[in-house]
Amino acid sequence: MDYDVIIIGAGPGGIYSAYELKKLCPSLRVGVFEAGQELEKRHCPIDGDRIKNCIGCKSCSIMSGFGGAGAFSDGKYNITNDFGGTLYEHIGRDKAIELMEYVDSINVENGGKGCKLYSTAGTGLKKVCMQNKLKLLEASVRHLGTDINYIVLEKLYDDLKDWADFHFMTAVRDIKVIDGGYSVATEGKEYTCRQCIISVGRSGSKWMESVCEDLNISAKSNRVDLGVRVELPAVIFSHLTDELYESKIVYRTEKFEDNVRTFCMNPHGIVVTENTNGIITVNGHSYESKDKQTENTNFALLVAKHFSEPFKDSNGYGESIARLSNMLGGGVIVQRFGDLMRGRRSNEKRIAEGTVHPTLNATPGDLSLVLPKRILDGIMEMIHALDKIAPGTANDDTLLYGVEVKFYNMEVKVDENLETEYPGLYIIGDGSGVTHSLSHASASGVFVARRIASGE
Ligand SMILES: Cc1cc2nc3c(=O)[nH]c(=O)nc-3n(C[C@H](O)[C@H](O)[C@H](O)COP(=O)(O)OP(=O)(O)OC[C@H]3O[C@@H](n4cnc5c(N)ncnc54)[C@H](O)[C@@H]3O)c2cc1C
Repeated sequence: MDYDVIIIGAGPGGIYSAYELKKLCPSLRVGVFEAGQELEKRHCPIDGDRIKNCIGCKSCSIMSGFGGAGAFSDGKYNITNDFGGTLYEHIGRDKAIELMEYVDSINVENGGKGCKLYSTAGTGLKKVCMQNKLKLLEASVRHLGTDINYIVLEKLYDDLKDWADFHFMTAVRDIKVIDGGYSVATEGKEYTCRQCIISVGRSGSKWMESVCEDLNISAKSNRVDLGVRVELPAVIFSHLTDELYESKIVYRTEKFEDNVRTFCMNPHGIVVTENTNGIITVNGHSYESKDKQTENTNFALLVAKHFSEPFKDSNGYGESIARLSNMLGGGVIVQRFGDLMRGRRSNEKRIAEGTVHPTLNATPGDLSLVLPKRILDGIMEMIHALDKIAPGTANDDTLLYGVEVKFYNMEVKVDENLETEYPGLYIIGDGSGVTHSLSHASASGVFVARRIASGE
């Protein structure tokens, strides 16, 4: 065998698998195969000036490379079983929290020391939310910020690079079961291993599907979250963000009894675009260092859409809606809440006259031509509900960017050890559909590494 363990994907899931394997079994021969670049070579060419749109790089530097989709993220490590994945369904609630706390301690040791840990424990905001038909989900969150998150990744790479063999710009094409292990095919070369950890995240979802088909591993896909990113003056949400940093608030709509939730809150942050397979959607970041902060806060409002038989392509549905906004706006559309309520599009003049200065240069337009009525109605209801706990949320000048889509990977059938029916073949992180966040994906990596180490 070329390796004892091959790890496919160097996102948080893959990195933390390697970290823990090195700690527990330093004599193991480990190979890490990553479709993208090493960290320092990851640069998205879109500069908003010379290059405004995606030029379809061979490997997308935003989604791929050492650090995975999380490398330029806001670095919010949420320690909770209430959202971010269903790891606890496999390994138990206490274990999941223990591992997320362990990951947090490693992040702290590797550069995250000065970053605050926020918590919902004992907050009076829970009651205020409840009184207004909103539910505040429980969590602790360490906000590394995009800058510190990068430093942590640099340190982890320094720690691992001379121990494991890193193969960058090397996408795995195929996995075959062989006697005593697995054969992993890349373009032009095959490598063998005794055990294999697949951690290919969101960008590897299509490939993951093909692996499941080839190896007859059952998987299901039935969910997509759709919505908008809200941007408003930071002061409107400061009582929530100062205490909790990120608050995950759920509202059940009166009209359709759908759940609308806040997602990825970025105090003093910026709104950014995201490219998933050539489709431009919206997202947000914020920085820990004060000089990069803005006067605005942004967060997503998402409605989860679950489909039932016979429809199977929930991600295709989300992509189609995102494509519609790309068709109308050439990318992301921005609209003032007041314009949306009055049933008219926003234009450059109305946005420029507004009191909220957009942090993303998006095309003014009309989101009601893009989002399904049921979803848009839910979002408008939620904005009015939030206005009760954060007055000003429903102001005319509040900006809505669309569309924000949260794609979910297929849920792959793995057991309580995150192992497939093939002994020694593990599927972890967002690629498994079990996790949807930095902390859950990282924790799943530690979990599987410990399992492998216990058998060595
Ligand atoms: C802009 C943005 C902001 C985010 N902010 C947050 C946040 O603040 N908090 C949070 O909890 N989550 C956040 N997320 C989500 C978070 O980044 C993911 O949940 C997390 O990165 C999942 O980790 P992972 O290791 O499972 O997968 P990924 O991070 O997606 O890593 C998978 C890796 O596998 C590689 N790969 C794919 N296919 C192959 C193949 N065939 N062969 C070899 N390599 C392959 C990819 O190139 C990639 O590097 C954000 C995501 C984005 C895009």
